[in-house]
Amino acid sequence: MSTTLAFRDSPYAHEQTATVVAVDGDGVVVTDSTIFYPHGGGQPGDSGVFVSADGREIAVVDTRKGEAGAVNHHLAADHDLAVGERIIQRLDWSRRHAHMRMHTALHLLAVAIPHGVTGGSIGAERGRLDFDLGDVTLDKAELDARLATLIAADYPVSTEWISDAELDANPALVRTMSVAPPRGVGEIRMVRIGDVDYQPCGGTHVAATAEIGGVRVASIKNRGARNRRVTLVWDDAEGQS
Ligand SMILES: [Zn+2]
Repeated sequence: MSTTLAFRDSPYAHEQTATVVAVDGDGVVVTDSTIFYPHGGGQPGDSGVFVSADGREIAVVDTRKGEAGAVNHHLAADHDLAVGERIIQRLDWSRRHAHMRMHTALHLLAVAIPHGVTGGSIGAERGRLDFDLGDVTLDKAELDARLATLIAADYPVSTEWISDAELDANPALVRTMSVAPPRGVGEIRMVRIGDVDYQPCGGTHVAATAEIGGVRVASIKNRGARNRRVTLVWDDAEGQS
């Protein structure tokens, strides 16, 4: 049974009620709807708690994509949740909000570096993108200044859906060379950031870029002859990495 992805339209929902629709022997619980983002597109799966009808809090340590559109919540301890039970889902919001901020910051990094993206990863403390740059050299101070300008502009972030055919007609929209957007459902979710970025993405983002806060380039490293790995950290993070 497929799970309604409530985080897509409501990325700021910290808490909601849902019904358990499947339980397996390994601690995996599927609900009819979820605010927990499942690991994908470089963004980690959410953690948090499920609160049972009698008020017990059960830790959710990870969230992953399951079979046939289901979202699998991986619960920490032996739990006795049963199919049909109503539970409250409560996110580890500070971790997830950090993912939303860093995810949106990486979109802006790809605006600041207009070259092919070959990989990436998002965390609550740092995020990185790999670029196919060839001979192009990057200047850390210039990138920091460009990112600060894009963030301060407070561009609104919105989502819309287009058909597979529309995407096929505009192949330049796909910035990420290594990850093809999900196909076969007939529609592609597009993320728009003001008039600076428009690309397929299934992740969670902040509502406007100023909410990202201060970020800086921690390092620019060679990853083979053509590839450079650019790592971002929060501006108030200590030291270099
Ligand atoms: Zn995104």
